Amino acid sequence: MYHSRVVPNDLNAFWMPFTANRQFKQSPRMFVSAKDMHFTTTDGRKVLDGTAGLWCVNAGHCRPKITEAIREQAGELDYAPAFQMGHPLAFEFANRLVEIAPKGMEHVFFTNSGSESVDTALKIAIAYHRARGDGSRFRLIGRERGYHGVNFGGISVGGIVTNRKMFGTLLTGVDHMPHTHLPGQNSFTKGEPEHGADIATELERIVALHDASTVAAVIVEPVAGSTGVLIPPKGYLQKLRAICDKHGILLIFDEVITGFGRLGAPFAADYFGVTPDIITTAKGITNGVIPMGAVFVKKEIHDAFMNGPEHVIEFFHGYTYSGNPIACAAGIATLDTYKEEGLLTRGEELAPYWEEALHSLKGEPHVIDIRNIGLVGAIELEPIAGQPTKRAFQAFVKAFERGALIRTTGDIIALSPPLIITKGQINELIDHVREVLRAVD
Ligand code: PMP
Repeated sequence: MYHSRVVPNDLNAFWMPFTANRQFKQSPRMFVSAKDMHFTTTDGRKVLDGTAGLWCVNAGHCRPKITEAIREQAGELDYAPAFQMGHPLAFEFANRLVEIAPKGMEHVFFTNSGSESVDTALKIAIAYHRARGDGSRFRLIGRERGYHGVNFGGISVGGIVTNRKMFGTLLTGVDHMPHTHLPGQNSFTKGEPEHGADIATELERIVALHDASTVAAVIVEPVAGSTGVLIPPKGYLQKLRAICDKHGILLIFDEVITGFGRLGAPFAADYFGVTPDIITTAKGITNGVIPMGAVFVKKEIHDAFMNGPEHVIEFFHGYTYSGNPIACAAGIATLDTYKEEGLLTRGEELAPYWEEALHSLKGEPHVIDIRNIGLVGAIELEPIAGQPTKRAFQAFVKAFERGALIRTTGDIIALSPPLIITKGQINELIDHVREVLRAVD
């Protein structure tokens, strides 16, 4: 057993991702174990997981079936290359994924993360048009406040200003639609906002500017997660679909967060009744336990690649760990767990309770908006003048001290608990947030 419970004296070597490293290392927050809805900290405190880790541990922590599958697979076939050879589990897992995918999604390309899924999807989109002899379609259209991971493709189509200013020129040939967040019109909406679907017509304007014959794909998160849970207005995604269809443009849904039950349906595509051409996933695919991602594509897209001569590599792309056997075993056990416990649709049952609990925070100090869909929610706080993000960060630290894990992005608290949460635990989580809001400056 490795000593995951012993904190080393020196914390400097690990350059932590997305972390204020200097602040963290002065007063570290660390977990040493987890079970179901709770983490345990180094000082033995239980912390209620209000965020499913990072939107990924959908079935809760250390689930026996998944743990056992990993243990067994690690002793049976630890690794096998996926280039020009394979192993049965990857094919089985792909079949199982296709069974639960939206209709028409018939093929799966394995990656190791959401960022890799996104860059893979963008490459598939451009290469697909080329495979059909339409090499002029190279442009990609993303959206303001979109988050599509951290690789160069993802940050180029993404709409996060810090990424755009920190890393140079990014990909060329990329444009962005406006985001869908309209606080003046839609504050404190429960579920999908009524107003704002027309903003989708901005896509027509962007396409016209470049001419449709140059545009390969549009990518959006059906519900933008990391930039604060921005829920699409009613009819918006349907409009995007119609515009893409009209112009022969591929529509990509980035479902890294919304996939695997987060909204109360297996995928957001099911929830909204809009089927894209490509879906990117990761996180919940293995319950967050082993790094893995998958890109789902429609049959017609896959067919376009398969039409060339045999013995030629159709898509010159892949990763050393694509379809890794231990990740596949974890993934199959995850799907079994979701199925046995009805987790891919449990959010539907719980959503009304969740909605009421969240909106009971209206009127608490600093709260300027509350949003919810499925088992996701956001509480937006009024920023302290000249010190953006400070109040929400304070809330995060105070919640951690009280025994609840919440996530903050900008001045927004985002919640996305494991799908096994009970009504009692929903009350507990919301009570923690209420107390924290009353305690921050
Ligand atoms: N896309 C979306 C919509 C995401 O939310 C995330 C991660 N939060 C990613 C891509 C990137 O995933 P990863 O961190 O696994 O690379």
